[in-house]
Amino acid sequence: MADPHGFLRVHREQPSERSIDTRLGDYHEFVEEPSDESVRKQASRCMDCGIPFCHQGCPLGNLIPEWNDLVYRGRLDEAVERLHTTNNFPEVTGRICPAPCEASCVLNIDNAPVSIKTVERHLASYAMEQGLRPVIATQQRGQRVAIVGSGPAGLAAAQQLCRQGYQVTVFEKDDRVGGLLRYGIPDFKLEKHIVDARIEQMRTEGVVFNTGVLIGRDISIEDFRHNFDAVILCGGARKPRELDIPGRQSSGIYPAMLYLEQQNRFNAGDRIDADQRIDAHGKNVIVIGGGDTGSDCVGTANRQGAKHVLQLEIMPRPPDHRSDQNPWPEWPMILRTSSSHREGCERQWSLMSKRFEHIDGQLTGLSVVDVAFANGVLIEREESTRILPADLVFLAMGFVGPDADDLLGQWGVSCAPNGNIITTREGSTNVSGVFAAGDMSRGQSLVVWAIADGRRVAAGVDVFLQKTSLAECSV
Ligand SMILES: Cc1cc2nc3c(=O)[nH]c(=O)nc-3n(C[C@H](O)[C@H](O)[C@H](O)COP(=O)(O)OP(=O)(O)OC[C@H]3O[C@@H](n4cnc5c(N)ncnc54)[C@H](O)[C@@H]3O)c2cc1C
Ligand code: SF4
Repeated sequence: MADPHGFLRVHREQPSERSIDTRLGDYHEFVEEPSDESVRKQASRCMDCGIPFCHQGCPLGNLIPEWNDLVYRGRLDEAVERLHTTNNFPEVTGRICPAPCEASCVLNIDNAPVSIKTVERHLASYAMEQGLRPVIATQQRGQRVAIVGSGPAGLAAAQQLCRQGYQVTVFEKDDRVGGLLRYGIPDFKLEKHIVDARIEQMRTEGVVFNTGVLIGRDISIEDFRHNFDAVILCGGARKPRELDIPGRQSSGIYPAMLYLEQQNRFNAGDRIDADQRIDAHGKNVIVIGGGDTGSDCVGTANRQGAKHVLQLEIMPRPPDHRSDQNPWPEWPMILRTSSSHREGCERQWSLMSKRFEHIDGQLTGLSVVDVAFANGVLIEREESTRILPADLVFLAMGFVGPDADDLLGQWGVSCAPNGNIITTREGSTNVSGVFAAGDMSRGQSLVVWAIADGRRVAAGVDVFLQKTSLAECSV
């Protein structure tokens, strides 16, 4: 146990952040690295509960009380080793995980959980400072695994299988590796050199990355059958939910992902033609959709110097506190205010978008109406219809499944009515030798779940390959 009296003596603290004025001037991360001593103090608050509920909260089953104890005792190398036992990319989760572990920490019963994510991030930073040492497989198995998609699910599966001695090739349709870590999540939440360092470690371990290859178009199923013993589909769930209302064709309306990807590319030094550039500078911006993707658009628009940013949500405003129906250790269904919201954003709830207003095809506003739910039925309050000024609108209403109809059709992989690939717990699809993991089978979720799925599917592939291989199956 870290310190039997730690939670009585030490208050929960979060790392400091760069001032809003400063951080809006660039795209660098805004969370500052805490000192070793302050993290040691935070770790001392862990009570090493007999039943660690944080394990239930963390999809990876991270050994949280163990590394808290080691951090408290200053044994950082051992703590890092424990952390990597269950988590391939703690430098990512330590930055952008919403930390369900903290929601289920016993200390969260009175709302001051152990700063688990801060400890995780600090350990991950320490590991990166020391240099991520490659873990080379002690034996080679000779069987080949193809992974489609290089997001966190594909990367976790690749690293696990490579370390077990399989020959792993990751195919990625984009020009760079990383999936949404690279082209979705903004740099101010996750700088890309963090992703690059891990990719470099994986290359050294033996993973082969093949970018700019769209599976379903560039490589035939026959090629896969001849060249690989198993395939894991980790293509994500990027099909955006559309908003098919009058005026949708006006210029100035963009899917959120187009905007976020472009800014990430711009930050990476890619050339964006001036007429293609989406720039919120000096504009009235409306983000439709109250979730995390919308919040990332808010943060990006503020960094570009938007005049005003408004985020709209059709659902009612969530409560400030847990309801009796949502007790600890469940994930609290409460109002969340992100760092991007704190940087400057008006938020409105219970609003439905009715029409994009425009002059000669150029967006000028958004017509909205107040809505309420009565017995599960959405009721519009017509008298409340009004027009909100808008020069730019970002559509961030979520995703409706994998954007891979061709691929899935060709491979004959069964999908659920919501479009997600149906798998067993081990990640196996209806096609023998073909597995799936991450958002492609789970639906748009979290990085921590993608890593957990990637690890689970790797274990499933390992079991499968010890018995058979794709070449022997009909794909
Ligand atoms: C804007 C945004 C912000 C987010 N922020 C957070 C956050 O802060 N914290 C958090 O925990 N989660 C966040 N998420 C969710 C998280 O990013 C995803 O749950 C996670 O990335 C899913 O990982 P994945 O590997 O399943 O898929 P992805 O990361 O989507 O990767 C799939 C990869 O497959 C490639 N691909 C697809 N089809 C093919 C094909 N046919 N051939 C070759 N390659 C293909 C794609 O190009 C992509 O690189 C966010 C999501 C979005 C959209
Ligand atoms: S990965 Fe997320 S849930 Fe798990 S310990 Fe880290 S912050 Fe908590």
